[in-house]
Amino acid sequence: MKKEVRRAIIAGNWKMNMTPSAAKEAIGKTAELTKDMNGCDVILCVPFVDIPAAVEAAKGTNVKIGAQNVHFEKKGAFTGEIAGDMLVECGIEYVIIGHSERRQYFGETDKTVNLRTKAALEAGLKVILCLGEVLEEREAGITSEIVSMQTKLDLAGLSAEDMKNVIIAYEPVWAIGTGLTATPEQAEEVCAIIRNVIAGLYSEEVAEGVTIQYGGSMNEGNAAALLSKVNIDGGLIGGASLVPEKFVQIVEAAQA
Ligand code: PEP
Repeated sequence: MKKEVRRAIIAGNWKMNMTPSAAKEAIGKTAELTKDMNGCDVILCVPFVDIPAAVEAAKGTNVKIGAQNVHFEKKGAFTGEIAGDMLVECGIEYVIIGHSERRQYFGETDKTVNLRTKAALEAGLKVILCLGEVLEEREAGITSEIVSMQTKLDLAGLSAEDMKNVIIAYEPVWAIGTGLTATPEQAEEVCAIIRNVIAGLYSEEVAEGVTIQYGGSMNEGNAAALLSKVNIDGGLIGGASLVPEKFVQIVEAAQA
């Protein structure tokens, strides 16, 4: 089973790039170039301040807009944070949670990833939940153990129903922003492990329905080979998502 049951999802993670006016222009261009590409979902996850301009620019197009984080409380004294209902009211449908840069630079843990995921789902958002091993873990031969543990901890307490709104992004940390890409075989192996863990936590049916993306230096040159794998249902793309002409080639590769 694969694309018969799981629609591909190509998501861009703009990180801390693009002002609102630049976002408007890039989304307009992406929307124009993907207007006839209906074989996958296309999401751009933008900085918070870009959201109003991005949602406006994406209206009536194939492009959906996501955010890059959400807090686990509904409101209160959490300076600098954003709550789920704020995102929903701004027209946001998707949110990235647990990106390795949040884990690495901002103290995000599997516990906070789990709390944020629950809060996002409760607010009505769909979650792109990122996990993956660091280079030392891969070299130590413990990738399987690490991603299995992350999958279990990050999804703790979520129901099978919740899983309909969770996308997993397998992102080996050593491949993010480095130009080093996991081979299609390496990425497939780990995505299959994650799907297997989900089958154990829920059921085969739930596992077969979950979209698992690969992320880590995916680009217009390597996307087709990665996306051809049975357990890789899409991509989370950083650098290449900033250039509409490159990003659109990845969307095109996902049309098959
Ligand atoms: C990411 O930020 O999730 C990512 C995969 O970045 P890049 O494509 O630049 O490696």
